[in-house]
Amino acid sequence: MTGPLKEEKKVSVNSSSGTTILCIDDDHDILTLLEKILIGAGYAVITASNGKQGLRETLTRKPDLILLDIVMPDMDGYEVCKKIKDKEETKNIPIIFITAKKEDEDEAKGLKIGAVDYIRKPFYPPIIKSRIRTQLDLKLKTDMLERLVSIDGLTNIYNRRKFDETLKLEWKRAMRNNSPLSLIMSDIDHFKGYNDHYGHTTGDDCLRRVSQEMKNLLQRPADLLARYGGEEFAVILPETDYNGAIYISTILLNGIEDLNISYPHSPIAGHVTISIGVVTSIPGKNCDTPLQLIEIADSMLYVAKQNGRNQIQGKDLSFTGK
Ligand code: GH3
Ligand code: MG
Ligand code: MG
Repeated sequence: MTGPLKEEKKVSVNSSSGTTILCIDDDHDILTLLEKILIGAGYAVITASNGKQGLRETLTRKPDLILLDIVMPDMDGYEVCKKIKDKEETKNIPIIFITAKKEDEDEAKGLKIGAVDYIRKPFYPPIIKSRIRTQLDLKLKTDMLERLVSIDGLTNIYNRRKFDETLKLEWKRAMRNNSPLSLIMSDIDHFKGYNDHYGHTTGDDCLRRVSQEMKNLLQRPADLLARYGGEEFAVILPETDYNGAIYISTILLNGIEDLNISYPHSPIAGHVTISIGVVTSIPGKNCDTPLQLIEIADSMLYVAKQNGRNQIQGKDLSFTGK
């Protein structure tokens, strides 16, 4: 083994598979060897010579897989692995330990803290390649499954399941950070009449156009748009105060009007319109549960419908206190 290296950042970009592998090892010779094997197998490679640098690369580059040494100065591989598995953004990246530690207990510990595989040094390159392939295939299938269970088949935006899951997560996050969380509930006006007039297939087209437009109009990556029900779309807006939520709601309302989807028989306008209910709260402070947030947004949507549709009605709990 060579001694600890100075921090260096090396990225090999000649990948034919579009798959990036991060190698974290304090031994320069091992890194060079792994890089050669992996580039030869068509992967892009990032190398890091210590745990801290490895963590940084993991967060910023989001590699598809990580090869991780255990014995390293400062922060060992177990600790690096735990930190990666603790973070929501990185916990699903598969980690394979490559280590000189040969004991079964070492391997058991590595697998227990979340690594998917454990390879002993000195290694045989074809085995490394096969095991990486296996883990990448598995990850691809898991991602596909994850996508299938969280995407709505008709509109291709997130479904109710993903919405419920995300709202719970954002609720907890907002509670920890004492930050505002806003929720938009929108519903197409007189959509039954649209369906009755144009038929279900055109109705489906309309749902796709409306949801796509909403998706295009939402700019922040943290905002989550989902099909909440038949012709009802919800938007979760983390760290967004009431003014921000009204601003986004206005963009959505106007955006759908501007789509100008013809609906001559609409009692509201000659085109498709939506109504919006919006609520802002500081979770845990002036609203007790995610369900309560949904109920208030729904009740605001109801007021918007009663008031004549094609409008926004909202409630700012963070301002009123309760
Ligand atoms: P309001 O303005 O009060 O919301 O009136 P509305 O007619 O939109 O509301 P209502 O709940 O009476 O009707 C909703 C309609 O949405 C009924 C149903 O035919 C239609 N719908 C729900 N899901 C789908 C879908 O997947 N495809 C199509 N084409 N229509 C759907
Ligand atoms: Mg409706
Ligand atoms: Mg409805």
